[in-house]
Amino acid sequence: MNPLYNAMGTTIFETMSARARATGAINLGQGFPDSGWPQDVLDAAAAALLSGSNQYPPMAGTPELRRAIADHYRAHQGVDLDWQAEITVTSGATEALAAAILALVTPGDEVVLFQPLYDAYLPLVLRAGGVPRLVTLRPPHWQFDRAALAAAFGPRTRLVILNNPLNPSASLCDRAALELLAEFVVAHDALVIADEVWEHVVFDGAGHVSVLAVPGLRDRSVKIGSAGKIFALTGWKVGWMAAAPDLTRALARSHQFLTFTTPPNLQAAVAFGLAKPGDWFEAMRRDFARSRDRLVAGLSAAGYRLLPSAGTWFVSIDLLASGISAPDTAVAEALIDHGVATIPVSAFYAEDPVTATLRLCFAKGDAVLDAAIARLTAAREALTRL
Ligand code: PMP
Repeated sequence: MNPLYNAMGTTIFETMSARARATGAINLGQGFPDSGWPQDVLDAAAAALLSGSNQYPPMAGTPELRRAIADHYRAHQGVDLDWQAEITVTSGATEALAAAILALVTPGDEVVLFQPLYDAYLPLVLRAGGVPRLVTLRPPHWQFDRAALAAAFGPRTRLVILNNPLNPSASLCDRAALELLAEFVVAHDALVIADEVWEHVVFDGAGHVSVLAVPGLRDRSVKIGSAGKIFALTGWKVGWMAAAPDLTRALARSHQFLTFTTPPNLQAAVAFGLAKPGDWFEAMRRDFARSRDRLVAGLSAAGYRLLPSAGTWFVSIDLLASGISAPDTAVAEALIDHGVATIPVSAFYAEDPVTATLRLCFAKGDAVLDAAIARLTAAREALTRL
């Protein structure tokens, strides 16, 4: 085995889900919803499977889906994309991340990353021979500033990987922050991979600003999206990359030898879904925000203190503010015994972790959330004594 993988172990999501399955704990760890997907998108996939082509679609994705992606971003984010020259369909955002990192990083290149880090980034950067330069974000706001960027960027900076909205912290990067980042990216002649898979799951009217809507970043960025997140269908693994034509040509080289294509029936259904009216997206956001509020209200009543959740399917318990001084890993372990699986946010740090934050997924039905609230309420006293 490549020693890099030997040293790595299994991701925290798989580990906690396995613990939940083995113990019967309610799984608020790994981020997957138990409802909220559109039936008509499933019907479109089924119809396409039975009556459409099941042979290799074009490598860059079906024209139908690429057009739908371009139309969708024009309507929702005011971004103009040439569907033929600027869009590549991938097998999930995970493949898009791998394709983009492998295409753009040459051994020795420095890559600026923000921690907490979505777990795929660092292994892929290291595998590509990149040298990580970490910017640490901290609760409660999880924002970077000029000094942090100045410390991370240097003459060898090639790439920045940004996740916005940010999983696990459920925080957003606003236009001013993206413009600050653009200053550094342009000054260092660098590129950006923007993992925007949570772009539609933003609450309280906040809205999402894409890197492609920021002038300095428009032609230096690869924007990554995922149908799994937009339609609450995480098993589908249909994603895409949107980038200027010269970047898209580079991305095609690596994409062709990773997965080459993505199932055509799912592409047809995603094209159908992306054309849904704005009301559908509004209702989806409202429903998830309602679940967030239910979990936050229940846990607050039990004495827990929660950090703000501006987007994603996650909200975090602020352990110290909740009177719990044990590290997040110990609390997560103890909570399995109380029947709830969670994710310690320290798992998303490569060094100098924040250890007082526990991530919960609220994309669950009311009955599941209420049962989890009851178990967490019963566990609180014991957690303060850990
Ligand atoms: N990036 C982030 C930030 C994510 O949260 C996820 C899913 N958890 C992915 C990428 C992977 O998306 P996909 O399932 O489309 O590969």
